[in-house]
Amino acid sequence: MIPRGKPDIGWADLAVAAARCLRPGDRAAAQRRVEAAWSPEGEALACLSVRSGFDLLLQALALPAGSEILVSAITIRDMTRIIEHHGLVPVPVDLDMATLSVPVANLERAWTPRTRAILVAHLFGSRMPLDDIARFARERGLLLIEDCAQAFTGPDYRGHPASDVCLFSFGPIKTATALGGGIVTVRDGMIRERMRAIQAGYPVQSRRRYLKRVLTFGVFKLLAAPTPYRAFTAACRALGREHDAVISGALRGFPGAGLMAKIRQQPSAPLLALLARRVTRFDPRRVARRTQVARTAIALMPGVDRPGTRAAEHSYWVFPIQAADPDGLVRRLWRHGFDATRGASSMSVVDRPPDRPELEPREARRVMDQVLYLPVYPGIADHDLARLARAAAAPRPAEAAPVAHETG
Ligand SMILES: *Cc1c(COP(=O)(O)O)cnc(C)c1O
Repeated sequence: MIPRGKPDIGWADLAVAAARCLRPGDRAAAQRRVEAAWSPEGEALACLSVRSGFDLLLQALALPAGSEILVSAITIRDMTRIIEHHGLVPVPVDLDMATLSVPVANLERAWTPRTRAILVAHLFGSRMPLDDIARFARERGLLLIEDCAQAFTGPDYRGHPASDVCLFSFGPIKTATALGGGIVTVRDGMIRERMRAIQAGYPVQSRRRYLKRVLTFGVFKLLAAPTPYRAFTAACRALGREHDAVISGALRGFPGAGLMAKIRQQPSAPLLALLARRVTRFDPRRVARRTQVARTAIALMPGVDRPGTRAAEHSYWVFPIQAADPDGLVRRLWRHGFDATRGASSMSVVDRPPDRPELEPREARRVMDQVLYLPVYPGIADHDLARLARAAAAPRPAEAAPVAHETG
C-alpha cells in the first residue's frame, strides 16, 4: 500500500528535537532566534500554531462583537471556530476553483458596513495573486490577513507585501514541519506587541508532551513506506478499525474538546529550536521535486478534473482531484494499493450566515463534495504513478462500456 504522504521531516531534525526536549534550554533566546531568522525587520511572532497566532490577533484587535470577517470559502474548520469564539461573524467568499483565487466581485458582494477584515487562504500549495484583493482591502479600510499555511515554499515568499498579517504553519502535515508551531508576521507594531504580551501570559507547552509527539512521528516515518504501511492498514483492519480514521485521529494537533485552552500555550524551547532549524536549513529542491512529480502525474491523467488547473502558482502541497463518486474512488484506489483519502487535512467549506442565502459558496461546495487526495509526492516510483493514473482515470464498472477499450 502506497502511503497517502510522508511527514516532511528528516531523522536528524527529529533527533535534534528529541535531544532538546531532554534539557530546559533558553526559550526566550530560541524565540528571538527563529523570529529574527524569519523577519530581520522584527515583524515575526513565533507561536504554538497558526491557530494560536490567529486567536492572539483577534484578542489584540478586540473588534466590536458582531463584526464580520470575509473568509475565502475553504479553510480548516478551526479558523472559523476561532472567529466565532470572539463573537465575530465569518462570512464566506466563494472561490474560483480553477484558479483557487478569490474574485474581487465576490468580496464586493459579501461586504457590509460591519466588515472589518479579510482572511484569505492559499489552497493545496497554490498561491493566488493578491494585488486586487489588497487594493479592495485598502479602499475599504479592511485588515488583510493572508493564510499561507499550505503555501510555504521557503525563503522565496514570506507573504504579500500588502498583507497586514501573514500566517505560516509548521504543523505535522505541513511543508518543512516542526511538528507544530506557527510564524505570524504582523506589520503593525502595536498589534504585534500586544499579541506578544498576551502570549507571554500563557502556560508553556510541556516538553514531555512535545517529546511524545516527536517519538510518535518517528514511528509514522517508519510506517510511511509501502511494506510497513501495508502491515499497518492490515493491522487496523484486524482490529476492526478503519485506517483512515486512525490516521486522521493521530494527526489532529489539538484533539478533543477545549480547542481554545489547547491553543493558548507558548511554544516550548525544543519546538522553537526545531522551527529555527527548519526555517534556516530549508532546501528548496524538495519543493521543486514535489512540483515536478505533480506535473508528471497531471500529464498522466489528462481526463481527470481537479481544483487549481489554472492556478497562477502551484507547489502541490497536496494533490486533490475531483470525482463523481469520490468515496467509491477512494475505496477502489485502496484496492489497487494506493492510500487516497478524502479528508486528511480537515478542510471544509465555510458556512454562510443563516440570513444571507445569497452568499452560499456554491463553487467551493460543489468541488469539495467531489474532492479526494491522491498519494502524489517525491519518492513514488514512475511505474506506480502510471498505475495510479490509470486507476484514478478508469471508469467504474457500472459505467464501463461493454467492450472495454483503453486509450493511451
Ligand atoms: C493547517 C492550516 C491551518 C492551521 O495551522 P496550525 O498551525 O495547525 O494551527 C490554518 N489554515 C490553513 C489553511 C491550514 O491548512
